[in-house]
Amino acid sequence: MRVAVVTLFPELFAAFSATSFVGRAIASGKLSLSMHDLRSHGRGVHRSVDDTPYGGGSGMVMRVDCVVEAIEAAERALGVPAQRVLLSPQGERFHQGIARELAATSALVLVCGRYEGFDERVRSHVHRELSLGDFVLTGGEVAAMAMVEAAVRLIPGVLGNEASVDEESFSVACGGKLEYPQYTRPASFRGAEVPEVLLSGHHAHIERWRRAQSEARTAERRPDLLTGRGEP
Ligand code: SAM
Repeated sequence: MRVAVVTLFPELFAAFSATSFVGRAIASGKLSLSMHDLRSHGRGVHRSVDDTPYGGGSGMVMRVDCVVEAIEAAERALGVPAQRVLLSPQGERFHQGIARELAATSALVLVCGRYEGFDERVRSHVHRELSLGDFVLTGGEVAAMAMVEAAVRLIPGVLGNEASVDEESFSVACGGKLEYPQYTRPASFRGAEVPEVLLSGHHAHIERWRRAQSEARTAERRPDLLTGRGEP
């Protein structure tokens, strides 16, 4: 999977790219993650990429010419046609199903906004618009990292223990539901005991208990996932 991120703050991705499984995915060649500095497409001595909004109003808007040139340059650098994704609170809300789609996409350009967001005309130069959730961030970088992380861990071979992505909250194996409760040692902690069934060694009983817990927890916390109205 090849990902290029268009951003005014490439340095934000330094630790992200070097750490944990993302770092290992890059080292093993399963992921290439490059940052494309939007500032290099800026205008004037200050390399400005923003300007005041037509019609007045507060804040600054990201210029269509700078952003589109940066997207095109990032895609050229990838060397293959890419899915262009605009990060925006006005986009489709991200969920595990979209993470699976991104994981199966060979090349992505993720476009991070700042200020008041993008000139509206940028939208006709991307394929989709994704939101991390119903809140407003200062920039798209944290959203881009969250989406890359959610997608990359689904690429076969990226995580050591494959079973952990097969059977977890929102997975196909869990029927899109929440995962059952998990416990580890000690078996007793300040009066809180691990459920007997998990200590029984009886795999069929454990399996049945986990399925029931997953159902009950989903019904309590996310009933939308059971009625088919949930997204994953
Ligand atoms: N004025 C915009 C609005 O009301 O829709 C918000 C702009 S926000 C302050 C600046 C940038 O942060 C956006 O262009 C986008 O790239 C990013 N951003 C903010 N919230 C986001 C979210 N929930 N998901 C993805 N990106 C987000």
